Amino acid sequence: MNRVFHWREAPPADYAVIGDPVAHSLSPKMHQAAYEALRLPFRYVAIHVPRGEARQALDALASLRYRGVNATVPHKEDAARWATKRDNLTDRLNAANTIRFRDRSCINTDITGFWDTLAGLRLPNSKALILGAGGSARAVVLSLAMHGFEVAIWNRTKANATQLLSTLGVRGEVLDQPVLEDAGLVVNTTSASLQGEDLAVRWERLHPDALAYDLMYSRGPTPFLASAAAHGRKAMDGRRLLAAQGARSLEYWLDMRAPRDVMLEALTEEGS
Ligand code: NDP
Repeated sequence: MNRVFHWREAPPADYAVIGDPVAHSLSPKMHQAAYEALRLPFRYVAIHVPRGEARQALDALASLRYRGVNATVPHKEDAARWATKRDNLTDRLNAANTIRFRDRSCINTDITGFWDTLAGLRLPNSKALILGAGGSARAVVLSLAMHGFEVAIWNRTKANATQLLSTLGVRGEVLDQPVLEDAGLVVNTTSASLQGEDLAVRWERLHPDALAYDLMYSRGPTPFLASAAAHGRKAMDGRRLLAAQGARSLEYWLDMRAPRDVMLEALTEEGS
């Protein structure tokens, strides 16, 4: 667990993750490992910002001369609104996870980071089943749609899946059951694993070489990944995404190549 500071008592530092809750975040450990590898004298801290206080907190951190911030739940929308410069993708998603104070700009590295984690993998096809329709699903759907994937969404509350597609302007199918014939990729963006719940994925109907990808990570396999493995599917947890989005944030702030292996390694030590 991180040492957590309330934003009104933020210490002198260079970078931070703001969230509510934020104690569990592995970002400080990961970024600190990167600075060490790059021999940079920066400090990255975890800052608790209660819901609804992101704008005040960002103003305060800017005046304390922080260089940048990662925003996590529930502050990504407020972070995008606080910034005065956004790229097209961030605008489309209306949510940012990376703020750079020197030019009051923001980007969303969940979108690009998610794609980084798939690049180099051999997926059997470009047909993806997305489970969930919350904040992270929006980044995943946009990332896949931009790269020509056919997307279909199943969500516990069907209306939220329909809303997601129409807000993003992405064409896709909304499913009644978590099953998509022959899908080559199934991404779990729900927080069901957090509650120890499995989702009734019909594994036998997916492509035999389909990849099961859970955005969540935990010490052992999540219920979703345990179920995938029991059905002989390849599985990947959310550590790679955390590392990839963090690397993209670091590159945005520092204009230099992030030590991706070091960042991933910092997370792997933690979890296993
Ligand atoms: P949101 O709260 O925005 O969305 C949660 C989603 O999960 C909704 O679609 C919700 O459905 C669904 N859900 C919640 N509980 C259940 C359940 N018991 N059964 C089925 N569906 C359920 O969360 P986020 O999108 O921000 O995050 C989701 C997960 O992704 C978290 O576990 C988070 O840790 C992980 N994550 C990992 C990242 C990484 O870097 N690895 C980055 C971002 C997120 P409904 O619409 O019906 O409420």
